[in-house]
Amino acid sequence: MSTDAPKSRKVIPIAAQSADGELVSLYASHQKIHPRSTTGFFTNWRWALVWLTQIIFYGLPWLEWGQRQAVLFDLGARRFYIFGLVLYPQDFIYLTGLMVISALSLFLFTAVAGRLWCGYACPQTVYTEIFLWIEHKVEGNRSARMRRDAQPWSVAKASRKSLKHLLWLMLALWTGFSFVGYFTPIKELGVEVIQMSMGSWEIFWTFFYGFATYGNAGFMREQVCKHMCPYARFQSAMFDKDTLIVTYDTERGEPRGARSRSADPKVLKLGACVDCSLCVQVCPTGIDIRKGLQYECIGCGVCVDVCDTVMDKLGYERGLIKYSTDNAMKNHWSQAQTLRHVLRPRVLVYTTILSSIVLAVLISLSMRTPFKVDVVRDRGVTARPVAGGKIENVYRLQLMNATEKQQRYKITVNGLPGLQISSETVLAVESTQARWVPVRVQAPFDAAAPGSHPIHFEIDALDSSGHLSEKSVFLMPR
Ligand code: SF4
Ligand code: SF4
Repeated sequence: MSTDAPKSRKVIPIAAQSADGELVSLYASHQKIHPRSTTGFFTNWRWALVWLTQIIFYGLPWLEWGQRQAVLFDLGARRFYIFGLVLYPQDFIYLTGLMVISALSLFLFTAVAGRLWCGYACPQTVYTEIFLWIEHKVEGNRSARMRRDAQPWSVAKASRKSLKHLLWLMLALWTGFSFVGYFTPIKELGVEVIQMSMGSWEIFWTFFYGFATYGNAGFMREQVCKHMCPYARFQSAMFDKDTLIVTYDTERGEPRGARSRSADPKVLKLGACVDCSLCVQVCPTGIDIRKGLQYECIGCGVCVDVCDTVMDKLGYERGLIKYSTDNAMKNHWSQAQTLRHVLRPRVLVYTTILSSIVLAVLISLSMRTPFKVDVVRDRGVTARPVAGGKIENVYRLQLMNATEKQQRYKITVNGLPGLQISSETVLAVESTQARWVPVRVQAPFDAAAPGSHPIHFEIDALDSSGHLSEKSVFLMPR
């Protein structure tokens, strides 16, 4: 240890001292959240999206298109099948387009209604909802679950918990299996599972994806949204005073307090909030929306549903908690006025850019040539004189058939006087296959000065429509 260390060191305490001198830990241990089940408009929407996303996710790999799986990303063969489309890695631009569309959609939805994605369609939300449903079915409602958690271990408690974990694991592994089914034909994968002959990568990804689902939806839950998801951190940058967010109407709700159903709140000098805490009990992230907008709020709207139920029971007007905007709350706007302000320039700009990109991608896809060509000069063969007073250059052409039928392609070349192909000019390529072919090109000795000259290969599909022109160079020796 250094001898010249300062005598008094600044120490950062891990426990804070409260006003009365008692030490208070700055580390709060995680409290498990047991959200109460709800019913209502927004809950129904959440479930509709759970069904929709999961029918697509689990069902899509089983759909057939002709003789093959409708959606398959065959990484080994470097072919991506999406219904009638056969894409090659060279079609990466469409993936870029898809990512730009996804990012812009997220910006647009967030500008309009905050964390719509988080609350309704994010896989973390969706799987947590499904896992919670299983938990509810096996372990009972919120109070039963909390009671059981507080009880000491017993055979009954252990068997309930084991059954829940077994069901969770089965669902998680099925999820992992379905995920791998997007990359390996799912029917073959199913046979491999039965015969216990899955490949090592298939085993790894099935278990990795399955355990990620099990861990995130069964244990981590709201912790993922609060501490791991970067979107939660930067979403506030996309909010403004006209963004629809789940809001508690403080003016109407406060002062809060319990009362009997028949009591007149005006006489009791109370607001509309009966302080039943149901909005906190249903919240999947365990927050109290009455404290104002918090970054933990995923905008799921279940607190809106439960509070509306309470308002209905008391005969009060609905909407003590509702989707509203900062400006609408301050200016007491009606619903129509609020919605008018939601359609502001920023939203219109996002919408215009998003629609233009979607349109551009669709047009580009519809005009896409159903084959691809790569031209490479054969560097092993230099420009050489051949019989007939000609100079020959050799190229390698890769012809990629992006249709599901055998195709023949006719190759011609231009760019110099008398330039022609001396090898085969009509080539067949099997369905969805790629083929490398050597192509010999000859030009008269006096067709051009020594040096490099631009030329073009013209490729025509004979069995379907399509034409491509690929640039290359022809070398004339000195
Ligand atoms: S559910 Fe409504 S009434 Fe009950 S505590 Fe929350 S805001 Fe108040
Ligand atoms: S506060 Fe309401 S909207 Fe926000 S996460 Fe909790 S239940 Fe969902």
